[in-house]
Amino acid sequence: MATRFRPVSGRAPAAAAGRIIATDGQASQFAASVQGLTRRFGDRVVLDQLDLEIRAGEFVAMIGRSGSGKSTLLRALAGLDQELSGSMTVAEPVAVAFQEPRLVPWKRVLGNVTLGLRDPNQVQVATGALEEVELTDRLSAWPVTLSGGEAQRVSLARALVRSPSLLLLDEPFSALDALTRMSMHRLVLRLWARRRPAVLLVTHDVDEALALADRVLVLGSGQIAYSAAIAVERPRDRNHPELIDLRHRLLNELGMPAEADETI
Ligand code: ADP
Ligand code: MG
Repeated sequence: MATRFRPVSGRAPAAAAGRIIATDGQASQFAASVQGLTRRFGDRVVLDQLDLEIRAGEFVAMIGRSGSGKSTLLRALAGLDQELSGSMTVAEPVAVAFQEPRLVPWKRVLGNVTLGLRDPNQVQVATGALEEVELTDRLSAWPVTLSGGEAQRVSLARALVRSPSLLLLDEPFSALDALTRMSMHRLVLRLWARRRPAVLLVTHDVDEALALADRVLVLGSGQIAYSAAIAVERPRDRNHPELIDLRHRLLNELGMPAEADETI
């Protein structure tokens, strides 16, 4: 497995972001390993000496208040930001799906999924991924004709064709209605079980985190302020005592009153 290694200290110029192949031991143990990651925008320190490790195949959910730096951290892990200090090792390939599906409007569904792929069997690979997200009947549809859930599934298929070791999901379901969101949760769990990438899912929905993840993180003050493993088997009953307890703790960490979740 190839691993991107970005040794950055001080403000690293883009050219300093190098890649090396990690030893097998390193690569198999962690999908991401981050030490002392700092990101400033002007005077504002958004990520402040952040440490994080994500094991290979682990499903991690991250919650945090709006503006706490969740997308900033995802962009750093995705290699989209060079203005960082600290160090990180990330298992390649990495794929990202964002809140907006970001489909190219002048390419059909299949063309959106093969976009940028160098695989000689790209059509076959893309068709397979679209099958996995149950969109085989929409291969030649234009993005504008897709529902929100369909567009988000295309976005997932586009991430899957890269066979990621680390799949970064930035609030991918938050614009969807509740029923579509639930079917997307089942889909993501199926894909994860089949392919076993490590997943880092950013969400503002505590229940989404509790339904899906092996571990929930809270990002606060530029660091991982809280981390809790969830041992409850899936599919999960949201009334499981461990989940009720953890929901209250997470809402507390987010500075929300405990009753708030009753109305979600
Ligand atoms: P979150 O995803 O947790 O809502 P973000 O990571 O998007 O938060 O942003 C964290 C903070 O960094 C916010 O205050 C935001 O305004 C600031 N920020 C993010 N990107 C930029 C940028 N390119 N320039 C200046 N400030 C930024
Ligand atoms: Mg964000």
